This record gives sequence, structure tokens and C-alpha cells, in this order.
Amino acid sequence: MARLGYVGLGIMGGPMARHLATAQHSMTVYNRTTEKADAWVEQHGGARALTPREVAQASDVVLMCVGNDDDVRSVVFGADGILAGLKTGGVLVDHTTASATIAREIADACAKQGCGFVDAPVSGGQAGAENGQLTIMCGSNDPATFDAIEPIIAAYAKRSKLLGTAGSGQLAKMVNQICIAGIAQGLSEALNFAMRAGLDPDDVVDVISTGAAQSWQMENRAKTMVRNEFEFGFAVEWMRKDLGICFDEASRNGAQLPMTEMVDKFYAEVVAIGGKRWDTSSLIARLTD
Ligand code: NAP
Repeated sequence: MARLGYVGLGIMGGPMARHLATAQHSMTVYNRTTEKADAWVEQHGGARALTPREVAQASDVVLMCVGNDDDVRSVVFGADGILAGLKTGGVLVDHTTASATIAREIADACAKQGCGFVDAPVSGGQAGAENGQLTIMCGSNDPATFDAIEPIIAAYAKRSKLLGTAGSGQLAKMVNQICIAGIAQGLSEALNFAMRAGLDPDDVVDVISTGAAQSWQMENRAKTMVRNEFEFGFAVEWMRKDLGICFDEASRNGAQLPMTEMVDKFYAEVVAIGGKRWDTSSLIARLTD
């Protein structure tokens, strides 16, 4: 079993680290809000570090899941950052949804000190993290580094795949989010149409979810959407952060994202009506009277 470190014990990171502890790895953890780290250690064992650097000093592989690019920068770089403690031969795995640019920057910094790096954003939400059923999209400049960490992240992965060099995992997550934006809006319009047409939306979903209209969003969100239940799941503010990353990347690679841009504006309207922490399926709330 490996000596592992985990930085960022939030909604996603906390359960991911728990699966690693359950798999009998020796764990050292850090969380900015120390009470969360104390509670985690009390429940799952292991050691609590006072800085990300201390986590890295005690670990062969450090995994992390924080908020955005700035958060990633603040825990990776600097005197108390992960790279200040990671020894030659160590590996850093970043599960944060962030830009491909920062993934490449960290990969270069890791290489300079003889360490490996994998960008490994996830899909599957809180439930996927809790149940160990995440889909993990990976990028690394060194396939052997991915091969080394794959059995470790298998503790919470339904599927993981190396998609190319550093940043490729983040690029694949952007593809994932572009898909979801369109599907969530389409499903919102369809369910709203069904209700206005006098159909029972649950009955309609029951039958059409066995046909070509089927989707994860339909299977997992349609029933709560028609009941206006949004206080769970993947927050609109996270989705807007992710779509912002997609737009930045598209401005570099020339991809057209007209529908995604429109859905992002709809999400801004959801925020304006108080829904920044609502699940992304709350797009339907704009359509109901
Ligand atoms: P979260 O519950 O807010 O957790 C964020 C974690 O990062 C917390 O432990 C937080 O520490 C830490 N953190 C944030 N900024 C930091 C900083 N500057 N320095 C040190 N620690 C910092 O968020 P989450 O839902 O787990 O999401 C984490 C990442 O996963 C995001 O990139 C998100 O887009 C992605 N993601 C989320 C979901 C989902 O369904 N939630 C699904 C797929 C991907 P504190 O406890 O001190 O705040």
C-alpha cells in the first residue's frame, strides 16, 4: 500500500480520500478549514498536516481536489505548497476541474523536480464520489505515471482513461461540460413542454427513457426537475466556472460554442433568481411560471 496525501476534503475530495483510506493506504490529509480535516481524521484515521507541503513531505503520491485555477495555484506553489515538499519520484494527481493551461504549468514544474503529474478531473458528482463510481479523464506527459496511479484512483473510479499529454484530462472535462449544458437545457424545455401539454411528465419519461432521448440527466434528474427540487447535486456556480474555462479554451482553438454560450446566459438568470447553489438541472426554473 502506498503513502498517500490528500489536499482538499470538500464534497468531492472528502469521500475520494475516504475510499483511499478504506483501501488500506496510509493517509496524510490537509484541508484549509482545519475542523474538516480533524473530523475526517477522527472518522477515517491517518494524519492531519498543517500545510500542503507537509502532506507532500509525508507522501509518495499526493492527490488533490480544490475549487478553481487560483485555488490550485495556491496549494501547489509557494513556500507551503505541495511542490515545496514533494520528493524526487513523487507524483501529484489533480482532480480539480481547472484549465488545461494550469495543468501544463504544473506538469512542467513537477518535471523540473523529477516528479510526475496527472490532471484527472472527474464526472459523476457527489453521489459518484460517495459511491466510488466516478468517471476520471486523465492527461499526463508520462504514460508510466498514469499506469502507476491508475490502481490507486480505481478506489473511486467507475472508469478512468489517459487521453493524451498534460491538460488532456481537463480538455476532455470541457467536452463533458459542453455536452451537459446542451442536454440539461433540452431536457428542461422538453419537460416544460410535456407539462404544458397536459401530459404526466413521469409517465412520459418512463417511456421515452427507453428510447433515443435517454440520457444520464433524464435518468437522474427528470423526476426532481418537474418537482422544482434543486437543493442538491452540481452547483450552477461551479458549472459557470467550468463553462468559463470552456470559453477561454474555445477562444484559443477556434471552436464555436453558440448553444453553450446561450445556456451560460440562462444559468446567469438562474443565479439572479437565487440559484447559484442549485443543481444544474435548475434551468427548468426559468421556464415555469
Ligand atoms: P467544495 O466542497 O467547495 O470543496 C472544495 C475544497 O477545496 C475544500 O476542501 C476547500 O477548503 C478547498 N479549497 C478551495 N480553495 C482553496 C484554497 N485556495 N486553498 C486551500 N484549499 C482550498 O467543492 P467540491 O464540490 O468538492 O468541488 C471541488 C472540485 O471538483 C471543483 O473543481 C468542482 O468543479 C469539481 N467537481 C465537483 C463536482 C460536484 O458535484 N460537487 C462534480 C465534478 C467536479 P475549505 O473546506 O477550507 O473551503
